Amino acid sequence: MRGTEDAAQLVEVGSGIHAWVQPDGSWWLNNAGAITTPSGQLVVDTCATETRARRFLDALSTATGRAPKLAVNTHQHGDHTYGNSLLPAGTVLIGQENMREGLRTDPIIDGCPPFWSPVPDWGDVQRRLPDITVTDALTVHLGDRRVELRHPGGPAHTTGDLVAWVPDERVLFTGDLVFAGLTPLVFMGSVSGALAAVDWLAEFGPRVVVPGHGPILTGDDIARVLDEHRRYYRLILRTGAAGIENGLSPLEAARAVDLGEFAGWADAERLVLNLHRFYADHHDSELDLIAAFSDALNYNGGPLPTHV
Ligand SMILES: [Zn+2]
Repeated sequence: MRGTEDAAQLVEVGSGIHAWVQPDGSWWLNNAGAITTPSGQLVVDTCATETRARRFLDALSTATGRAPKLAVNTHQHGDHTYGNSLLPAGTVLIGQENMREGLRTDPIIDGCPPFWSPVPDWGDVQRRLPDITVTDALTVHLGDRRVELRHPGGPAHTTGDLVAWVPDERVLFTGDLVFAGLTPLVFMGSVSGALAAVDWLAEFGPRVVVPGHGPILTGDDIARVLDEHRRYYRLILRTGAAGIENGLSPLEAARAVDLGEFAGWADAERLVLNLHRFYADHHDSELDLIAAFSDALNYNGGPLPTHV
């Protein structure tokens, strides 16, 4: 059942709060969700392909009997945004300012490069950008219920991340600030920023975390997974600093690393992408996306597997 389409499911994680969880959470298989009240519904993210976005929105409609009044994208990446065009035309879409610009200039929606195997087919999706942009924080009021959209304050997973926090049920949709049990990815954000964002997430004191990828977290698993992220980001910081000191390329630095406790996580080659980010920031230069992915494919020994 690994990654198969019918493994995706809608889970109620709080009163009127649903998470759409798509196993196995690897490349392009994201989580999404929605907050529903009699006064309206806010959808959190869509999915990568027409088929997957439709499946999510149909399941949500069946479960809640409502159409989305509003939607928010947690960040620009296609697994969370390409399905935006499947939302009803009247749904008002919200995103962080940098997220909107990132999706506006994203070339991958027009045709996916052969970095993945099989190469994803998005189906009939169109680029649909937020109607409303947020820089720091915005509160959505669905009747009496507040949903707080918050930016971590700087680059983390990307430069335009937002979380959706439902304070009355203490449910936190983190987007890709959390990859539960899978390798985190920060190549379009910041390694140190992502590390700082872990503490920022913990301060919400969530009862339930809906990560961007991987299973829903509750109880002690929340702190455990956040700690894993801290250790992983520190490993990148150490490896990057040592690699630069020893004159290694990001790929050479990656090959020299023993992933240890993280060796079992899917998408391990993100180590290379994350090191490219560290190097680019260290040298105050732009990340070369093609070079970074070429190195990641090299590390992996071929195109990256996807089940989208
Ligand atoms: Zn992402």
